[in-house]
Amino acid sequence: VLAKTPNPQTVCYQALHQDYCEEFVGETPHQIEETEAGEIVVKRLLAGGRGHYGPLEHPQITLACGYFPHSTMQQLRTHRVGVSFDCQSFRYTGARLEKFVSKWGDSLTGGEIPIEAKEELEKLVYLRPLGKYKDRIGLMYDYRQDARDRAIALAIESLKLYAENRGAGMPAEQARGLIPFDIRQHWVVSCNARSLLHMLDLRWKDDAQLECQWWCDLAWVHFANWMPQVAVWYEKHRAHRGTLAP
Ligand SMILES: Cc1cc2nc3c(=O)[nH]c(=O)nc-3n(C[C@H](O)[C@H](O)[C@H](O)COP(=O)(O)OP(=O)(O)OC[C@H]3O[C@@H](n4cnc5c(N)ncnc54)[C@H](O)[C@@H]3O)c2cc1C
Repeated sequence: VLAKTPNPQTVCYQALHQDYCEEFVGETPHQIEETEAGEIVVKRLLAGGRGHYGPLEHPQITLACGYFPHSTMQQLRTHRVGVSFDCQSFRYTGARLEKFVSKWGDSLTGGEIPIEAKEELEKLVYLRPLGKYKDRIGLMYDYRQDARDRAIALAIESLKLYAENRGAGMPAEQARGLIPFDIRQHWVVSCNARSLLHMLDLRWKDDAQLECQWWCDLAWVHFANWMPQVAVWYEKHRAHRGTLAP
């Protein structure tokens, strides 16, 4: 968490209070205890499918997200309303890929690739761990060592070509086109409480991409810590249910 609105549930409470309060909330700010504010917010805005989500748009949280595969960023970035992103684009940030290739040099060509080089590669490029995975319609797929080894070899070839092209003066925005799709990427995202819950609605359900669900697991910890009473309500009524946007 890079930043977050302090007392977010109180802020929601003050906003909802202004909706029906004759007095100006700026003069009589209705400072109540954060837990009580959260309980009122749930009772008056959310319980029983009320759907008064507007006041949840006031508190804001900024998350630094690191080492995720590119595809996770790409999917989260489809959310446009109340969400702002700043992402590495690999137009300015490919130096770590070139460093990897120059560090391991000839040991990446022919023969067995050193285990340490493979481990370092996996800090740059994301590959799922070995194991059994479900696809979107529930069919199982076994990701085995031989398939993973081929993916590692291909990723190394891509990075070698990237370094070679960059060394020959190719601009980064052209050279990036052939780096492995699931290169690990860092980004900063800011959401308000409502837009974050909307992303969880769509990306925490079973048929969302696994890595997006893992992003939700991590974001959830911070949300639940930040707005605990709202989080209890959300977990009970919406989490993982795949309530779809219209
Ligand atoms: C499991 C899954 C698979 C997906 N697969 C694909 C795919 O293959 N290809 C692909 O391109 N996308 C795909 N998407 C992305 C999806 O189509 C949406 O673009 C994305 O989930 C953003 O959702 P949203 O519009 O609800 O979010 P937001 O952009 O945050 O919008 C929030 C809400 O605002 C309203 N809204 C926003 N913009 C508009 C608008 N222009 N007009 C009217 N109302 C609007 C809607 O009510 C919307 O729910 C997938 C999403 C999921 C969850």
